[in-house]
Order: sequence, then structure tokens, then C-alpha cells
Amino acid sequence: MKALTVAPGQAGSARLDDVDDPPESDGPVLVETLAIGVCGTDAEIVSGAYGWAPPGRDRLVLGHESLGRVLEAPAGAGVAKGDLVVGIVRRPDPVPCPACALDQWDFCRNGEYTERGIKSLDGYCSERYRIEAKYAVKVDSSLGSLGVLLEPASVVAKAWDQVDAIGSRQGGWHPQRVMVTGAGPIGLLAALIGVERGLDVHVLDQMTTGFKPDLVAALGATYHHGNVEEAARGSDVIIECTGVGQLVFEVMQDVAPGGVVCLTGVSSGGRELGVDAGALNRTIVLENEAVVGSVNANRRHYELGAEALAAADRSWLERLVSRRVPLDSWADALARKPDDVKVVIEVNT
Ligand code: BGC
Repeated sequence: MKALTVAPGQAGSARLDDVDDPPESDGPVLVETLAIGVCGTDAEIVSGAYGWAPPGRDRLVLGHESLGRVLEAPAGAGVAKGDLVVGIVRRPDPVPCPACALDQWDFCRNGEYTERGIKSLDGYCSERYRIEAKYAVKVDSSLGSLGVLLEPASVVAKAWDQVDAIGSRQGGWHPQRVMVTGAGPIGLLAALIGVERGLDVHVLDQMTTGFKPDLVAALGATYHHGNVEEAARGSDVIIECTGVGQLVFEVMQDVAPGGVVCLTGVSSGGRELGVDAGALNRTIVLENEAVVGSVNANRRHYELGAEALAAADRSWLERLVSRRVPLDSWADALARKPDDVKVVIEVNT
């Protein structure tokens, strides 16, 4: 079968390969892959800056945002032939650490977790894959091909969950205004959840025209480009989705007293900034602010993400997918265009 593979650590090594059928040891549920979403992490892997091949191998099957249809599942698996499913990305570390032992693999504390399509486990960008029933999440058939948005939605649902947990440590926590930085898929889905919660949502991005401002406006949120302080002023919650160092520090300074800044962007290192660390520390301390990092998602977050997608306007979600590209044209899908939001590789149609 065909699979999109890459040699992690080697820039430009992605290619469409002929690989063996998925091994039974990957799990009893056999899935026909329908679509794979492409994200910044895939770009990093393809550029050679991130990613790990499975032990003893040079190449990794790419793809961690997925949508597939079950071909075979044992009785009692919770999914059955014909169901639409999304594969959870992370697997707990083998020790396991205290968090992984509680199925909170997203909080793995020893770093020995594995991730399909990213870290030491083949991903989902092959014509078929196998998976353990526990890691296959059934998608409501009414979402159809939009189910491919569930993995990024799960990451955002976890971020909001962290904001809730941390914000509610103080009495009378009723956030009103949220700013999201970055109008990529993560930022737009974070904004969607903010709107679904009835909040006053502001989104900051560099683009001045095109899909992104339109999508924000269509949500009923306010789009900003340019001045960060102005866009952030009075925000009780800031969800940072760019990973751009300068912006990360600026928003920490700008969040409202008692506010929560949630960082979700995985940035590459190597950029140094001049920061007035004393002033930043003083603000955070005197205003009881919290800055929290959030990565990945456990099963509960996939379920929360599915609820958020189910409540969303389908035509808005459709517009998040800016391009659908057949598997044979995978290189086109990986080449980023300025106005791209979510690019999807269609594996079986
Ligand atoms: C994925 C997460 C993953 C993270 C770090 C993100 O792109 O969505 O599931 O944990 O990369 O590898």
C-alpha cells in the first residue's frame, strides 16, 4: 500500500513509498484512511527539524491528524465496521509515569511517550492503518469529512480546559474577553470555542486580507493585525497559537490582572530576545497572572473537541479547509501557501 514517509532529521526526504500492510501488532481495528490534515509539526518534520523514526528504522510514516473508516473491528471495540474514526496521536510511556498511568498521556512527565506520525510510531498517512480500540475515537457521521479537524480541535479543547482549571482558582472567575494570537487552524478553533462560550473574542494575525480575516468575521469575532497591546487590552484569557517568541513575551505583559495566558505554539529554538525580565516578573506577580503551556490531548479532550465541532456551523468549518489535495500530489499539500488555513491530503475518497 502507499504511504507518505520521511527520514526524520533529513530535510527534503519525504516521498510516497510502497509499504507492507499494517502489522496486526498495531491493533485489532483496521482502518481505511480517508484524509490527513497537514500542520506546522508536519512541516517541521519534513524540514528535518523534528520527528523520530520507529526504533531500528530510518523512515517514519507521516500523518497525525486523521480521518478514516473502520474496515474491521472486534466485538466490543466501541467502533464497528463503517464507522468514521480519528486516531489519537499520543501513547503513554511504558514506565508508566504517574500521569500516563491515569491515561493522561498528554501530561507525560518522563518524556518517553510516543506519538503516531511524530515520535517513534508510524503515522496515519498510509492507505490503511491499524489501531488499538482504546485510541480510536468515533466521529459523528454528520461531521463527515470535517472529522479531520478533530485532532486539532482536541488540542484546543485541552488548552481551554487548562484555562478553566487555572482561572477558577480565584473566586468570581467569569472571563469576558479573550484574545487569540494566530489565525491558523489552532487559533481559529480556539476562537470558535470562545464564541461558543459567549465570550468577546479577538483574533490577532499578520494577514490583512483573505481567508483569515473573513473567517474571524464570519464567527462574529473581531480581527486585528498590527498592534498587539491594543488587540490584547483587557483580555482575561490569551491563547497564544503562534509560538513566535516576541509575541509570547508581549502577551504575557498585556493580559488583564488575574488573567491566564495559555501557550500552545511549539516554536523552534535559536532566537534570542531582549526582555525586561524584572518588569515582566513584577507584573505577573502583582497581578496574579498565570502562564501555562499546553500540548497534545487525552481522550476526554477529543470528546470535548468533538462537541465543539458538532456545535459549529458546518459551512464555517468547511471554509477552514482551504485546500484538499490527492495523496499523489502530497508535495503540493506540504508546500505552504500564504493564505492556507488547513490543508488536507485525501488518501481514499
Ligand atoms: C500535535 C500534538 C503533539 C505535538 C508535539 C502537535 O502538532 O497536534 O498531538 O503532541 O505536535 O509533538
